[in-house]
Amino acid sequence: MKNRFYIVVLFLLLSSACTKHPLFSTSKEVTTFQINLNDRVDDLFKVTVFNRKLTAANSYFQFAATAPGTYQTMDMGRFVRSFNAFDDENNPVETRQISTNRWRLLQPEKIARIEYEIAETWDTPVDSNRIYNMCGTSLENDHALINGQAVFGYFEGTQAEEIHVDLKYPAEWLVGTALAQNEAGRYVAQSYDHLVDSPIQLGRMTKASTQISDTKIEVYTYSKTDVVNSAEILAAMEEMLIAAEKFIGDLPVDHYTFLYHFEDASYGAWEHSYSSGYVYQEKEFEKLKESLIKTSAHEFFHIITPLNIHSEIIDNFNFSEPTVSKHLWLYEGTTEWAAQIMLLRGQSRSLDDYFNVLRRKIAIDKLYYRQDYSLTDLAKHSFSSTGARQYGNIYMRGAMVAGLLDILLLDLSDGKKGWQDVLQELTHEYGPSRPFSEETFFQDIADKTYPQVADFFESYVENANPLPLTEYYQKIGITYNEQKEFEDLEKGIGGKDGRFYIAKLPADLPELDLQAGDVFMKINGKEIKRTSMRRLEKKLEKETNGQTYKVEFERNGEVVEVESANPEFKKLVENFVFNYRDLTRNSSFVFELNPAATPRQLKLRQKWLQN
Ligand SMILES: [Zn+2]
Repeated sequence: MKNRFYIVVLFLLLSSACTKHPLFSTSKEVTTFQINLNDRVDDLFKVTVFNRKLTAANSYFQFAATAPGTYQTMDMGRFVRSFNAFDDENNPVETRQISTNRWRLLQPEKIARIEYEIAETWDTPVDSNRIYNMCGTSLENDHALINGQAVFGYFEGTQAEEIHVDLKYPAEWLVGTALAQNEAGRYVAQSYDHLVDSPIQLGRMTKASTQISDTKIEVYTYSKTDVVNSAEILAAMEEMLIAAEKFIGDLPVDHYTFLYHFEDASYGAWEHSYSSGYVYQEKEFEKLKESLIKTSAHEFFHIITPLNIHSEIIDNFNFSEPTVSKHLWLYEGTTEWAAQIMLLRGQSRSLDDYFNVLRRKIAIDKLYYRQDYSLTDLAKHSFSSTGARQYGNIYMRGAMVAGLLDILLLDLSDGKKGWQDVLQELTHEYGPSRPFSEETFFQDIADKTYPQVADFFESYVENANPLPLTEYYQKIGITYNEQKEFEDLEKGIGGKDGRFYIAKLPADLPELDLQAGDVFMKINGKEIKRTSMRRLEKKLEKETNGQTYKVEFERNGEVVEVESANPEFKKLVENFVFNYRDLTRNSSFVFELNPAATPRQLKLRQKWLQN
């Protein structure tokens, strides 16, 4: 947790005391935020809060320190540039900033409105904790992006109250949001949480919509130079949406809005209950398509978790102080697994493609992340800098673990019930307003399924034991080899246990001390590793002749050194160096169908493929 408290700033509020304001017709039962988006010159959102009658119980105005699903310290108070309260005769009422995100209202019962300015996050430099663009705000000549926690605050004690939003904006702009409007044209949020959960994108956009069973899907797209439009995105997504419906059973939402923003750089996406926001670099759609669909599938699946399956920590979100749920393995890990496998099960992706997704996830987990950092550690420490560095692994190992849980359940139930089926049951049992218990959830799932599931959670979610990939995938007739043995006789190279050896000696080799089976250990003093091989490769590309190679081999536990400029020897070494990357890639983390699978394994595989 990082909550930094600044020195108290006292606002005397005398400067604007003379401004004359018109009478306001806003309902005084509901707090209404009015934003003037017609004034966009200085990167500041001009917000007026017409509050309902306040009491001593509402003595603070709070800006968000963080927001659900971001696992990031935001401290939105850093972006507030002015903050003034007025009574209904337009006299200033004193307020004091008492910490980064918190303003004290000295006489709340007198306050009729508050005016504040808050800077957009995209163009406002900060020293630390830069807010991800897809979670922030942008205010430009042709568009505005509003993520609720970055524009709105709330009066203490009113987090659960209805809020109205009154937007003033250019007539030619479109407005994309999952929020509904009332008769007066105001956007209605059931609570502050709902407002934060409902981003609003406005501007020069395109719109497309469709119906998937009972769910209305809307797509809004801002594309800086009009390269990408909503109709082509929706057309490309339709297959994914149908696969999602099949995977989920009944979609648990009656409407869903995708908000796409294409500008200068790619940042990612942020999920919400009824919408998701994407910030990507503007490119020809064909170049964006693949990753956009994958990401959209992931974000869309969040309608299952956390929306419908979440703990009480998510249910009653603490905006003033970051609090974490340890069940990130579910919210992000399972979501990522589901987004990938639903495309396979919906037949919109081949099994080979799916195997490649798995391989990539395993490789990234092993190459870039700490192997001793469990998925619950990753959740608990996501707000610390150490945790933040490991966070990305929730999409890698987190997804692999969900896949293993699926296989375990299929195996134990003899093919009757996988993780997909259990998720559908959990969606019905819990739902948007019924959280599960943060503490007992692992045991609760085990009670609903099999006792072995509790051990599984302990080993692979709460602890960081090596994943039993070979053992589990074998249950469904799939062979997994972390390092697959091979012999490539054309190149003369073989591989075993992650090491490479001479598979075939060149015919025309003189009396060098070389034998088939000699394992490459060092080339010109450099160990056989990814980084040194890449450097060597680059070096060799420049020097074409005159090179002598000194290679250390291992033969029966002994080191054998060979140094020679012989062209055949050079060819063998260069064959190895230049193909090292491909040889490593093709022989690492390999999934294959087992041709000798038993009838039971075949049965489980069939269920696994289709569910
Ligand atoms: Zn996610």
